[in-house]
Amino acid sequence: MNKYIPNMYYKNIYEINYKLLKEKGIKCILFDLDNTLVEPHTKHSNEKLQKLFIELKKDFKVIIFSNSFITRLLPFKKELEVDINHTSLKPLKHSFNKVLKKYKFNKEEVAIIGDQIFTDIIGGNNVGINTILVDSITVKDFFITKYNRKREEKLLKELEEKKLFKRGKYYE
Ligand SMILES: [Mg+2]
Repeated sequence: MNKYIPNMYYKNIYEINYKLLKEKGIKCILFDLDNTLVEPHTKHSNEKLQKLFIELKKDFKVIIFSNSFITRLLPFKKELEVDINHTSLKPLKHSFNKVLKKYKFNKEEVAIIGDQIFTDIIGGNNVGINTILVDSITVKDFFITKYNRKREEKLLKELEEKKLFKRGKYYE
């Protein structure tokens, strides 16, 4: 499979068919934080997100798996009552493998949900876990992400020309 292509693609985290994920044998969800769960400059969670997480935690081990530093993640850990993996250096494999080992899951049992092809999706595909792309919450990004976005735009153009992937054409 093309390492750039997610296994599933949804508009946002609230549209995801979590029942289907459960049926597929997924037991652990790694969530990207910025632009997947909240806007990049938002320092706290919100009621809608808290409600979703309460439901998800009944069926899955939920972990926030972010490239951000621990200080940014701690409020979310507390408010959402989930484990976190900070400074994950996505798309590198190291943190993915660390989490698989720590929580004793097989690759097939884990999914990453994120908004960036160059970090979340490539990282997940390289490790062999399930990859789920969502559209970014906003166009506002941190500096480093802006660079990745430019690459992503170029890539998306190529993938669309090859009829491999099209933004806004959701699938599961
Ligand atoms: Mg993100």
